[in-house]
Amino acid sequence: MRVAVTGTPGTGKTTATDLLASDFEVIHLNEVIRERELTTGRDDERDTLITDLDAVASWLDDREDVVVESHLAHEFDADGVIVLRCAPEVIERRLHERGESAESARENAESEALDVILGHAVQNHGEDAVYEIDTTDRTPEAVAAEIDAVIAGEREPSAGTVDYTDYLR
Ligand code: ADP
Repeated sequence: MRVAVTGTPGTGKTTATDLLASDFEVIHLNEVIRERELTTGRDDERDTLITDLDAVASWLDDREDVVVESHLAHEFDADGVIVLRCAPEVIERRLHERGESAESARENAESEALDVILGHAVQNHGEDAVYEIDTTDRTPEAVAAEIDAVIAGEREPSAGTVDYTDYLR
């Protein structure tokens, strides 16, 4: 079984997946991409590396009983896709505090308000495989417990349970 944990940068994916009780191995995909240079080039405008999705898919191919954590995790095969959600104002502040430019922090917050990653997750995997978790006002431990519940099959799929569109007004 393979579980993807995705969400806009700053939603707390890295923090929560480091606290899981599950025996599944946690793969922090962005570290793998960086260390193994699974990239096709550089996006100069955004100053980021472009991920080689085919190379990542091959690397993931035979890994079983893993939690794959990344804002790209929904791009790959998975039995379940967990989408962490968080109020855009909180994301903007966190990303700014972690050193991102005001423009990049705002862009990610807007993307969260527009449900961009949730939309891609549902498009790629179908509503029955998607589990949305609103992390706003939840501790990292509580978010980890929700993820563990999905892995244990104790949660129903869900999508579209949050509305952050106020941020865009
Ligand atoms: P991501 O991996 O999704 O980019 P991180 O796990 O790196 O997000 O978390 C981004 C920032 O938010 C970090 O400073 C982290 O300490 C903080 N954080 C993560 N989850 C929570 C939470 N549930 N409550 C409060 N702060 C959190």
